[in-house]
Amino acid sequence: MADQPKTLALIAHDGKKADMVAFALAHKPVLQRYELVATRTTGQLLREKCGLEVQQMLSGPMGGDAQIAAKVAEGEIEAVFFFVDPLGKHPHDPDIQSLLRICNVHNVPLATNAATASFIISPRAL
Ligand code: PGA
Repeated sequence: MADQPKTLALIAHDGKKADMVAFALAHKPVLQRYELVATRTTGQLLREKCGLEVQQMLSGPMGGDAQIAAKVAEGEIEAVFFFVDPLGKHPHDPDIQSLLRICNVHNVPLATNAATASFIISPRAL
């Protein structure tokens, strides 16, 4: 298992998908060194707009966040980049809260906005 490539999870709510694409383009050389998993629509965008290889799960509202939470719980994910839209309403809010909680339970790095994501992927002093 030790030489297994590490996996990053990427998820963006609709209001934050443009931020996710900009983040992925800015950090493409780093992201390409990892296995990537994403919710369905986010993954589609990362493939089409950024040219990244991404394993696509279900769309968030259909259970994709829950699928990624399960991977985090099983120790398969190194870090989660989950760009949440705090101004939007989400029918799958219980799944969103569950993913955030599971990351905290397992002490997995979790970026919920682009600024934090940049620090995780390319650390620098404040
Ligand atoms: P999506 O899901 O990438 O399929 O849009 C993200 C979400 O809403 O959690």
